[in-house]
Amino acid sequence: MTNNCILTELKSNRRLKVWLLFTLLLISIFIVIVTTATQALASTVLLSNEKLTEKSQRISFTEVASKLILADQKRLADPKLFKKLLTELKTTKNSFTAEQRYFYQFLRGYLAAYQGRYDKADNILTKIINSSANTLIKFRANYTLINISAAKKEWSDGLRHISYNTKMLPSIKNKEHYQQSILTSIIFYNQLQQYDLVLKHIDLIKRQTLPEKHNCLLEQLSLEAKLNLHYIKPDDSSIDDGLGVCIKADNKISTNIIRVYRAKLYLKIQQPEKALAEILPHYNEVKNTLFPMLIVGVNNALAESYFQLKNIEVAKDYALAALNVKKYTPVLQQDSDTYKLLYQIAKQQKDIDLALTYHETYSTLERFHLESEKAKHVAFQLTKLNAFENENQIRLLNEENDFLAAEQILAKSKVANIQLIITAMTLIIIMLAIGGSRLWQSHKRVKVLSEYDELTAIYNRRHFNHVAVNALKYCQNSQQELSLIMFDLDHFKKINDNFGHMCGDWALKETIRVCKKIGRKNDIFARLGGEEFCILLPSCNIEAAVLRAEACRAAIENTITEDSGNDFTITASFGVTDVKRSGFDLEKLLADADFATYDSKHSGRNRVTVYEPETPETSVSLASTLSIAS
Ligand code: GH3
Ligand code: MG
Ligand code: MG
Repeated sequence: MTNNCILTELKSNRRLKVWLLFTLLLISIFIVIVTTATQALASTVLLSNEKLTEKSQRISFTEVASKLILADQKRLADPKLFKKLLTELKTTKNSFTAEQRYFYQFLRGYLAAYQGRYDKADNILTKIINSSANTLIKFRANYTLINISAAKKEWSDGLRHISYNTKMLPSIKNKEHYQQSILTSIIFYNQLQQYDLVLKHIDLIKRQTLPEKHNCLLEQLSLEAKLNLHYIKPDDSSIDDGLGVCIKADNKISTNIIRVYRAKLYLKIQQPEKALAEILPHYNEVKNTLFPMLIVGVNNALAESYFQLKNIEVAKDYALAALNVKKYTPVLQQDSDTYKLLYQIAKQQKDIDLALTYHETYSTLERFHLESEKAKHVAFQLTKLNAFENENQIRLLNEENDFLAAEQILAKSKVANIQLIITAMTLIIIMLAIGGSRLWQSHKRVKVLSEYDELTAIYNRRHFNHVAVNALKYCQNSQQELSLIMFDLDHFKKINDNFGHMCGDWALKETIRVCKKIGRKNDIFARLGGEEFCILLPSCNIEAAVLRAEACRAAIENTITEDSGNDFTITASFGVTDVKRSGFDLEKLLADADFATYDSKHSGRNRVTVYEPETPETSVSLASTLSIAS
């Protein structure tokens, strides 16, 4: 039984140590991972912050800065509020930081461009490009200038601005403006009729995740480029795909522009019915867009369809409807198409005068149109070297894009892995903590069970041995005395027999309780077995020990037993020895005390006997013992 206890305790101790070490190791790994993960996440967050709010990072969060940011956000959604904010900001412009001043100037330049005051806008934005240190503001100013150049038909300037921004692209981390700049270039190339470049840039921008509105516009521009490059037929699936994207984005202008492209393709191969079927059902929808270029285009296509169907009157109606569309800026190509058709109709109707008038207008417009085409061509040729350079840049950007995309995927999977590891580690640590606390509890229970006597809550024999050996060593080293009292209850069997085992248990507990009451704090009580006990008294000589034993004996004898429910007397026989008599050997001390107890029993019980060695020679003096020990 005792061996089992020792074994259990040893096992429990070993398990506890292993558990502690393991937990410490895991906690260290956990800390390392969490630190790394935090750094990784922080850098990811920083990177995305940098990408998304480069401008807001650079401006301190004062009221002025917040107003500037709000104005920037509202410039498209709420132009009125945008203008109002700029007017308010003007009054505080003396308190701007250099950074804020450039940002404010940029917004002013943007407003001027929006209002069609191109020269003013050009002036403000060019100044920013030449003096601001902020890359993003310069970049934004420059792509606004691309728009202005397109509106002013200043093709060489536009190409110069495109080249400037293409070079800046790799350093732009803000995704929105990165895409916006490429999109502006695509629109510019489209107007310049450089359709190959349009398609190349669309390919470049499409590698990124784009907002729905951009996707539709890109589909439209891509189809326009393909149409002009004669890459597509009317029943091409890419037209259906483009229509799908634009219908989904609810972009009625782009949807119908694509329908006009398809109708034109049908008309080219003399299939006017199909052209009509494509656009006629959406005629009202087109009119509701109030977009002149589209309305003229649809009327032209309808007029051409009916002309091919030889329905001259209806063809004429649609052609005249095209002429009557209000437009603020002329649409040369389309107007020229309308007059050409009207000339053909008049000719068919044999109205020669009218035919001549229409032809004159048609040829004038065609001349203008050709001149403008020539201007574009010349501008493009002039900047061909730059364009060639752009090609290189685009190739570089393509490579960089691939690299960035791969890097992004890697970073995402890294973060996901780290999160998974943290979750797993947290779970393991929680489980270990629960297991550890259970182990700790059971360890404590095992410790108590292995050291204490369950009934009397004093040391059991095994633990007493361990403690007593240490106490003996200490007293021997420090030249102190030590005594041992042993006692055995008298006729205890009778108590059990007469009043039951429970009453016997009560007597055992009560005996210890009364004895402990009169002892010192550092007296070591132990139950040696059954109804046999001992008290080890460090630093206590035989006289004091005898007095203590006598006091215990009297206390036991005077125990009031009524509380147990029975009336009986408890007595005990005592044997006392000390290191002077028995030496510093525990076994000898116990044996001699037992011998003295036996003496008490034989002398009539309920008494204290001091162990006396048989012959004086066997008696060891404390001094001599100590000298032997040292
Ligand atoms: P003596 O005066 O000679 O010591 O006589 P005794 O009856 O005390 O001695 P004996 O050795 O004949 O009987 C001891 C009894 O103690 C026997 C056993 O049943 C009883 N005993 C031992 N352990 C316990 C215990 O934990 N609870 C109870 N109730 N009785 C116990
Ligand atoms: Mg007894
Ligand atoms: Mg006994």
